[in-house]
Amino acid sequence: MKYLLLLLLALLIAWQWRTHRAAKDREPKAGSPQRPIEMLACSHCGTHVVAHEATQGASGVYCSAAHQRLHES
Ligand SMILES: [Zn+2]
Repeated sequence: MKYLLLLLLALLIAWQWRTHRAAKDREPKAGSPQRPIEMLACSHCGTHVVAHEATQGASGVYCSAAHQRLHES
């Protein structure tokens, strides 16, 4: 009888933990971006890069300084 109560208690705790975790998974995560990340196409090769990582050149944006040199020289 004692073990049956312990088993029921363990099942209740497991069920509560799963319910709590499922509710938490539905909430938006604190660190996740709320708006889409802006992507820009490289003027040399067309590769899409994150806007803040793109290299700004005289005639467009580039994925790297090497492609900026190749395209603008
Ligand atoms: Zn490129």
